[in-house]
Amino acid sequence: MSEASTPYTTNNAGVPVESDTDSLTVGAAGPILLHDHYLIEKMAQFNRERVPERVVHAKGSGAYGFFQVTNDVSQFTKASVFQPGKRTEMLARFSTVAGEQGSPDTWRDPRGFALKFYTDQGNYDLVGNNTPVFFVRDTIKFQDFIRSQKRRPDNGLRDNDMQWDFWTLSPESAHMVTWLMGDRGIPRTYRNMNGYGSHTYSWVNAGGQRFWVKYHFKTDQGIDFYTQEEADLMAGQDADCHRRDLYEAIESGNHPSWTLYVQIMPFDDAWDYRFNPFDLTKVWPHGDYPLIEVGRMTLDRNPEDYFVHIEQAAFEPSNLVPGVGVSPDKMLLGRIFSYPDTHRYRIGPNYAQLPPNRSHVPVHSYAKDGPMRFDPSRAARPYAPNSYGGPDARTDLWGAPLGWEVEGQMVREASPLHREDDDWGQAGTMVRKVLDDAARDRLVSNISGHLLDGVSAPVLARALEYWRNVDKDLGDRIAKKVNGG
Ligand code: NDP
Repeated sequence: MSEASTPYTTNNAGVPVESDTDSLTVGAAGPILLHDHYLIEKMAQFNRERVPERVVHAKGSGAYGFFQVTNDVSQFTKASVFQPGKRTEMLARFSTVAGEQGSPDTWRDPRGFALKFYTDQGNYDLVGNNTPVFFVRDTIKFQDFIRSQKRRPDNGLRDNDMQWDFWTLSPESAHMVTWLMGDRGIPRTYRNMNGYGSHTYSWVNAGGQRFWVKYHFKTDQGIDFYTQEEADLMAGQDADCHRRDLYEAIESGNHPSWTLYVQIMPFDDAWDYRFNPFDLTKVWPHGDYPLIEVGRMTLDRNPEDYFVHIEQAAFEPSNLVPGVGVSPDKMLLGRIFSYPDTHRYRIGPNYAQLPPNRSHVPVHSYAKDGPMRFDPSRAARPYAPNSYGGPDARTDLWGAPLGWEVEGQMVREASPLHREDDDWGQAGTMVRKVLDDAARDRLVSNISGHLLDGVSAPVLARALEYWRNVDKDLGDRIAKKVNGG
């Protein structure tokens, strides 16, 4: 850029700035004056550059792109975003879970897979992980689970003993921990991992027929992973390797994509299916409900400003559009509250007005005021109903209700077990049926390495029992390794 075309510096009000090198002083060596308001603005702004980091999924990367429908699934949902031929702008954010902002991308951890579709019916968010299952099945255990993965209050350190203590006292975690300790626990890049909606959602078609649905985004780049040794090395060499890889791939025109498939369960199958289909620690075996292609998501645009577009991005499973609903999954029902709640705290109550979160269709809400609001209220009279032309809520735009029938006493009880429900079965199937010998060897090595790093004797004994419950042979092999065999 030539000197002549360089813009002059202004303060935040657009007024030209005199100097970025010298503060205003009384004499060249004198004290700094309080009315050097530009200096004060610079200092004060700097002190406020951070919003609180996310309590989970703090370290992330993201990009914009689009979703293109490639198949006809209109018999299952009337959601506009999934109608034949439709193309919808979107934002994706990938992340680790337990690590803080500066933590290495290659720590063993699930990866967040959060998507925002800017649909012509408002924002639709699908806030999933790179795993089809999770550690717990009731939202009241989530806070405890996360605390067991983060830092100890006394010494500020992460602690394997704490992690295994929680897992072994929560046997429903076994399926997810098997995933985590396996190859997919450390993806090679964000581009080389799948994404899953994880929860069961509901769909309704234009005729009012209801279905249960699970989302699978399969990477078109192929699955690839780091071994524990490679990941440890990478954490030292380039702690931001996943962020760098995603940014550089998109910048060089190598646009990553994922093909979306769904599993569809007819509404009435749910009640006596062999597994509880709303249990987040279980998958629906593909043999029971095969994958049906829907479309492709492609990421083709890096954010122009990381903080504005990715740090301030606010995904929330409560952003649902007509044709898509929730299910009796108790983890999903808890997240419906907690995501918008955390955004209101972390970014502020008007977070939906920020660039990554703005709907691409006009917002006619009665919401008003609050800190940092810059959209004027569109309703001349801020209440409903009113006779001054304010917007009307319209049941017909949602159509047939997407709920399910319930009755009973108020209780604190686990959902009833289905025929084949237990905590170990699907984890064991993965170990025996899905992994090959080399993957099983790495699983044994990853688990025993983790257990040998600061796990106390009583917790270790429970952990060996836990793995024997998943698979006797696997448990025996881990026991042999941790006992020096
Ligand atoms: P399938 O043989 O039909 O599917 C197994 C699936 O496992 C594959 O399609 C693949 O999913 C996934 N997979 C492959 N390698 C690994 C790995 N190293 N770590 C984790 N997942 C891997 O069997 P079922 O559907 O009957 O499921 C059997 C077991 O497979 C389940 O108990 C579960 O643990 C696991 N699984 C099942 C999934 C499902 O939704 N049914 C999804 C993923 C895993 P993908 O194609 O998504 O990469």
